[in-house]
Amino acid sequence: LKIFLMPDPAADAISSRAFLRQLLGHLHEIDSQTANRLAKLGLQTVQDAVFYFPRNYEYPAPPTPLNQLRDGVDAAVVGTITEMDLRTTGDGRCIVGALVEAGQDAVRLLFFNQVFWLEKLARGMRVMVSGRPRLSGLRMEFVHPQVTILSEDDELPCGSILPVYGLTEGLKQALMRRLIPPLVRKAAPLIREVLPPSLRQAAGERLQTSALLPIDQALCHLHQPTDDPSLQQARRRFVFQELLVLQLALALQRRRLTTELTAPAMPANNEIDSRIHRRFGFTLTGDQQRVISEVAADMGRQYPMNRLIQGDVGSGKTVIAQYAMLLTVAHGHQAMLMAPTEILARQHHNTLSSALAGSRVRLGLLTGSLPAPQRRQILDRFAAGEVDVLVGTQALLYGQVVPAKLGLVVIDEQHKFGVGQRAMLRRGGLDPHSLVLSATPIPRTLAMTLFGDLDISTLREKPPGRKPVRTYLAVKQWRARWWEFVRQHLSEGRQAYVVTPRVVAAPAAMQNSTTLAIDGEDSAEQVSNAQQVFAELTAGPLQGFRVDLLHGRLPAEAKHEVMQRFAQRRCHVLVCTTVIEVGIDVPNATVMTILGGEHFGLAQLHQLRGRVARGTVGGHVCVFTDRDGDPEENERLQIFAQTSDGFELAEADFRLRGPGDLLGTRQSGLPPMRIADLQRDQTILTVARELAQELIDADPLLEAAEYEQLKKQVLRRYGEVLELGDVA
Ligand code: ADP
Ligand code: MG
Repeated sequence: LKIFLMPDPAADAISSRAFLRQLLGHLHEIDSQTANRLAKLGLQTVQDAVFYFPRNYEYPAPPTPLNQLRDGVDAAVVGTITEMDLRTTGDGRCIVGALVEAGQDAVRLLFFNQVFWLEKLARGMRVMVSGRPRLSGLRMEFVHPQVTILSEDDELPCGSILPVYGLTEGLKQALMRRLIPPLVRKAAPLIREVLPPSLRQAAGERLQTSALLPIDQALCHLHQPTDDPSLQQARRRFVFQELLVLQLALALQRRRLTTELTAPAMPANNEIDSRIHRRFGFTLTGDQQRVISEVAADMGRQYPMNRLIQGDVGSGKTVIAQYAMLLTVAHGHQAMLMAPTEILARQHHNTLSSALAGSRVRLGLLTGSLPAPQRRQILDRFAAGEVDVLVGTQALLYGQVVPAKLGLVVIDEQHKFGVGQRAMLRRGGLDPHSLVLSATPIPRTLAMTLFGDLDISTLREKPPGRKPVRTYLAVKQWRARWWEFVRQHLSEGRQAYVVTPRVVAAPAAMQNSTTLAIDGEDSAEQVSNAQQVFAELTAGPLQGFRVDLLHGRLPAEAKHEVMQRFAQRRCHVLVCTTVIEVGIDVPNATVMTILGGEHFGLAQLHQLRGRVARGTVGGHVCVFTDRDGDPEENERLQIFAQTSDGFELAEADFRLRGPGDLLGTRQSGLPPMRIADLQRDQTILTVARELAQELIDADPLLEAAEYEQLKKQVLRRYGEVLELGDVA
């Protein structure tokens, strides 16, 4: 391809690294308007442009011989311009025409009102033209095709791979392709290598490929790949680099937590242990025992525990938190338990209150809806050391919460909190131990990235006597029969949930009927909503039973009352939204109806199902969709119905969502990945993690000269969010 760069008057600068810092607007091939647009993409300097990786690639087809063009079928042709002309039409428009010949054949190019083509194209030029030809008379014609000017000796760009850059308004792909790759070729040799040769070699070996490419080669191949293998090699190198940098940051943080922070050592002993066990109303499962001993071992050390407990819904994670909190209190320290919703915080508070009835442990509850005076009082008592266990919502994160002697922080349903929030809880003098509970089993790769700073315990075993939950996907016609089934269970003394995706009807459906008629298309998409379903059920199928409505828009007090009534069996059916998704524990509720199932994610559905998997009677979940037709056709719902193992579901979910939604990174508060795809690049991730750990074990602060660049990268990207300050 013809390169747009003329001999550079500042050629000397190119040999120095100053070129990398040169502002793009100062390069003579970039005008100020283009420079402004590039700046919108975050591209200010040459170096920025070099690291602006294509987000995709095009693999253009080889050119079609002119006599094989077909009307209306996209194609690319190569030929020489033999004529140029300009015509004006009666209505004042102008048409630039060009004739492109190859061998015996010719095609016409037409550009309406684009006079500039007269200057760009000239007779004798070799060009590649691509677009959709149409037959006009006897000749094929391209209207507004893409035209690439080829130099005489240029190899045809056929088969070559074209980068696709992210664009912004006014910036054309063609311009980016003309601008960036040549810059990269000039600048790449000046870029400092981040991965020393030994590391590129080691990574290659573990990935069972050749050594990773040096940075300059990889950059060139990434922006201007010559063929697919070299593109993949280049990509592999940067994916590895990106993941290694992340894993190093996480390894540094893990190390810092174990060696540089001090936490109160709170070992368990037989006496404490049996005192705590007496408080549980059941015998622990083997898995619970094992995890508790892992937790107790952690808490016996003088540096903070940093452990994630992952266990499927209903696997009994709460007792582990209880154990850890009571161990803390036994040692005269305070514990905090943070839950993502107020309902759940209250439930934990209730469970603890009854488990601790008659003990000396002093409990407190802090939620956002607490009136100021009570809030003040709780905070004061906590600060004075008069509250041993403080349960709450995110209100616990705020600065006014000043514990007297904090020993442990437990976070329930971790997937709802980000890295930053976790960091906020580690504050002040002695660092508390921290325990994180997650009911959304996290696929291994995600766990390794998002929670790479945590040790992980897994609860696989369910408490004994659990009956499986049956899951049905039902077509609309089944509704009557299903409600009959629900009624029967209610009559036997069971309780039920009915879950809908929305609280109220969508705005469109609430408007008057005239609008409805006009927007017929839109309003056809009726989404089940709690209010309407509540009205229908109480008037019809569930008449005679006590039905309550629960959703996020109710005031906290009202929510609490509804939950209380349900937990105490004073209400039979809860029509609700996903406010009950997380953590709610009412073992007598065994039947769940999910309406509008297609609007829920897999993890959500599984969480919901977890609500009726708690007792010793088998649960039943029936999913209806809002759309007519067979719910079996919905892949997500099908997987949901077929799989009851949360770990399997999590992997399936991850696969289904595809690379676009890095569920974790967005929620976690970590900067997004630029090139790595946590799903596709699992193998590289594993290798990066291994090597990162080995590097840190051998050189805990990455002080060797050969890691200087690598360390810089780690600090630049993660220093702040992971609080690696003292490593720097
Ligand atoms: P999750 O892991 O979803 O948070 P919970 O801790 O809420 O699960 O436990 C689910 C239910 O199982 C609760 O009702 C709890 O009392 C009960 N449970 C937990 N462990 C056991 C056990 N070992 N034996 C019997 N029931 C248990
Ligand atoms: Mg729970």
